[in-house]
Amino acid sequence: MKHWVLALGASLATTALPSAAQVTAQLTTEQFGKMEIKTQKVGDGLYVLFGNGGNIGVSVGADGVLIVDDGQFPQLMPKTLEAIRAVGGHRVDLAIDTHFHVDHADGNLVLGPTGTWFIAQANTREMLAKDRVVNVVVRPPTEYKPYPASALPVVTFTDRMQMHFNGDTLDLLHVGPAHTTGDAVVFFRDHNVVHTGDVFNNAGYPYIDTDNGGDLDGTIAFCEAILREIKPDTVVIPGHGPVGTYNDLKDHIAMLKGVRAKLAALVKSGATLEQVIAAKPTAEWDARYGDNTRIVNRGYASLTRKR
Ligand SMILES: [Zn+2]
Repeated sequence: MKHWVLALGASLATTALPSAAQVTAQLTTEQFGKMEIKTQKVGDGLYVLFGNGGNIGVSVGADGVLIVDDGQFPQLMPKTLEAIRAVGGHRVDLAIDTHFHVDHADGNLVLGPTGTWFIAQANTREMLAKDRVVNVVVRPPTEYKPYPASALPVVTFTDRMQMHFNGDTLDLLHVGPAHTTGDAVVFFRDHNVVHTGDVFNNAGYPYIDTDNGGDLDGTIAFCEAILREIKPDTVVIPGHGPVGTYNDLKDHIAMLKGVRAKLAALVKSGATLEQVIAAKPTAEWDARYGDNTRIVNRGYASLTRKR
């Protein structure tokens, strides 16, 4: 979830769950006008777009355009499409949704009616097709409505799927519950690039959507599985934050394991959430990873759920 939107959402009344539409309605046309899409090339015909939601991977070539995630606001899609045209694309033929969060999948609402086909892990399609509530801790839980049929994935997979597009071999991997119940990570094998969705967040501590199948131990296991599949020089596109490296992911796993150990010891001692927060379990990593509110809250929820 994008912090900027979270800040806006925080001003909403807390008596009822705000809807996604209410959150978006607070943004003015002027604010949308100021949002920019930045493009970074990571290989021949392979790019990352940085906009106002999750990072968008773009493959452009003889077969057309395939993107990984499609951003946060339908209102921003014209700018996203402009950025895709600027690197030689025309229309978006295929879009992989790494998971169901709106900052990665809301572009489906615009692209679907234009004929784009969506691909996702099966649990993500299920989530997109039903009412869902996401608790990002730092603002009241938000309610989301099911997407119309035109915005739902037409192809789903369970554990692995392989695609061949624009001369590259793409492997889609789902290990198990991690950031959400249905994360997909996309390996562009010939480009030596991976798009991790929000399984790996290179902008701070990860958010774990514990109420929607997310899991701290699962996030560690999924990150380790990604590390096993890549090479030391693989380009790692995270769900949020700048393009990273094998070592960034490796450090992230070490941090997650360290935080997990601290939280688990506190949980074992019978500490309440308030006591866990007071114990500052993430202190040694805060200088690098920033605000720990969500990782402590959702990590605690994840570990206590199992007992
Ligand atoms: Zn997410």
